[in-house]
Amino acid sequence: MLFLTDYTLPELEKWFVDNGMQKFRARQVWEWFYVRGADSYEKMTNLPKNVRALLLKKLPLIQTKVQEIKTAADDSEKRLIELCSDNDFVESVWIPMGSHATVCVSTQVGCPIGCSFCASGSEGFERNLTTGEIVEQVWHSSIAHSRRGIKNLVFMGMGEPFLNYKNLVKAIKILNNENGLKIGARRMTISTVGIVNRIVDFGKDVPQSNLAISLHATNDTLRKQLIPNCPSTIDDLISALSEYFKMTHRKITYEYVLLKDINDSLEHAVELVKIIKKVPSKINLIEYNKVNFNDYESPGRKAVKNFSNYLYRKGIDVAVRRKKGDDINAACGQLRKVSRTSQCDI
Ligand code: SAH
Repeated sequence: MLFLTDYTLPELEKWFVDNGMQKFRARQVWEWFYVRGADSYEKMTNLPKNVRALLLKKLPLIQTKVQEIKTAADDSEKRLIELCSDNDFVESVWIPMGSHATVCVSTQVGCPIGCSFCASGSEGFERNLTTGEIVEQVWHSSIAHSRRGIKNLVFMGMGEPFLNYKNLVKAIKILNNENGLKIGARRMTISTVGIVNRIVDFGKDVPQSNLAISLHATNDTLRKQLIPNCPSTIDDLISALSEYFKMTHRKITYEYVLLKDINDSLEHAVELVKIIKKVPSKINLIEYNKVNFNDYESPGRKAVKNFSNYLYRKGIDVAVRRKKGDDINAACGQLRKVSRTSQCDI
């Protein structure tokens, strides 16, 4: 069954016409839902009764339910969201940044990549999210914070976005729609471990959004150890990224989780400079966030600063990513699969 949140606006207009309604009604419903946050057809007061009755029967609005919200000391909020079709769960994080906010979005239940330092894949992979299940993570945060607009999206929650490519791209279109949530494509960042053919597709299909690449190692042997199911070598990755840059002229952002005594030495920094100079790019260093099932450690503030300073002196555009929400396990790599009793009533 399809839900309102699975449709782009043009698809929804077609659906309305195919179901014997006027096309402009689709836009009305769209605005009630995305702009005014109406969570039932009853609240869409300018729709005639017969239209509402038909919609109620044929096009349910949403397919997920927020079961729990945890608030961190820095005000970030982690939502535990039930997927009503099968009682699976995902987590998404709303991160306030002054007058605006960023939402961190999940794209899969669990993750098949299995990075050894990340909680998301620790219990395996369950399934891809539908388009609507991706969109609704942002919608739930948006209606909860009506006066604090969501400006940025990072597809850095649970899962590997490029292994759910079709639904991801459609969700981006819906979230970007100017009659709806209107989140700028340039303000969306998709983080991938490096599915090379999808990097090139993404450059064609969504040239205005940003690409972040989880690099984490400077040679394939160590990378394979840290990212066991990584499907690409560093050389393949660099070729795909060069092609991506030729198409989009957008700088790539590398992500590099610093792990004590694993990838944080001066030798690693030297190798890293060589790699990241190959394509116009910047790098975000991420301090390792503790997850329970492994023995990795963060090298600590000072070592991170030294590593960062070295890259900076070599002319690299480098930043250290600020930790957000780690006290409620909402920081990078801490989102995970959970199970609970269902609370869905659809
Ligand atoms: N599958 C995508 C999205 C993952 S999450 C990808 O691999 O890019 C976003 C970032 O958080 C990735 O760079 C990921 O490697 C990083 N990450 C995972 N576990 C982490 C941890 N325990 N501490 C810090 N960062 C982590």
